[in-house]
Amino acid sequence: MAHYSVSKAVVTGGARGLGRAIGERLAREGLSVALLDVNEVGVKETAAEIAEATSAHVIGLGCDVTDRPGLQEVFRRAAEELGGLDTLVGNAGITRDRMFHKLSDDDWDQVIAVNLTGVFDCLRSAAPWLRAEGPGRVVLISSVVAKTGNLGQMNYIAAKAGVVGLVRSAAVELARFDTTVNGVRPGFIETAMTAAMPEEARDALMTDNLLKRAGRPEDIAGAVAYLCSDDASFVTGQVLDVNGGSAL
Ligand code: NDP
Repeated sequence: MAHYSVSKAVVTGGARGLGRAIGERLAREGLSVALLDVNEVGVKETAAEIAEATSAHVIGLGCDVTDRPGLQEVFRRAAEELGGLDTLVGNAGITRDRMFHKLSDDDWDQVIAVNLTGVFDCLRSAAPWLRAEGPGRVVLISSVVAKTGNLGQMNYIAAKAGVVGLVRSAAVELARFDTTVNGVRPGFIETAMTAAMPEEARDALMTDNLLKRAGRPEDIAGAVAYLCSDDASFVTGQVLDVNGGSAL
């Protein structure tokens, strides 16, 4: 059984999809969890369901990761409710897919704001606790397409490649506080995000891997749990591919 020296986690984008699965897995491992999501009603419901299923301390807080002034207050509230904060999972993300010559300024700005700047701002908002508490864990969610490229996702891929840069540089800066920083590059996983893709492209991409199946949110949650556990205490600055062996 894995052991955890950390015990108080914030997971962004936690109302559904990967964030929900990650929050539930960490709660099952015994961590107290604050789920943050722009969908305030949804995230409170999700937190209540996970708390009931796991008997862990799980709360849901409304939070838009692009709301710079509001973000620090949300992290302060999360830390107050959890009795501190030693783990951050930067998961919230959106897509606005179009071929690049058709991308509007807003398509570019929104995706960069949520998927890259939002991750940085969450990291910065969590920093006072991560620097003070030690040991700590940060796991940031990138994407397989940051490695391979893809049609119609230049804004998303630029942001997700930027997340890999955040992982590497934050690992260097937070090591002195006994905090590891790693990333996960999921392949295509069955969530609302991929349900929005055109059906034909989705079906082909989902099983374009050695294991010939779509990824499940639990596959990513398991990888995040490992990176948060003591088994990964000597792993930092790494980005783990969890994609069924696609893009080898
Ligand atoms: P979902 O769209 O299913 O869930 C994302 C959650 O984040 C939603 O609850 C959404 O709220 C919330 N959210 C969106 N914008 C913000 C914001 N500004 N502030 C706070 N919360 C926000 O996505 P997935 O679970 O599929 O994806 C999770 C992460 O994994 C993303 O970063 C994604 O890029 C990445 N990823 C996903 C893959 C996949 O195949 N699913 C593959 C590779 C990476 P709302 O419902 O209101 O939009």
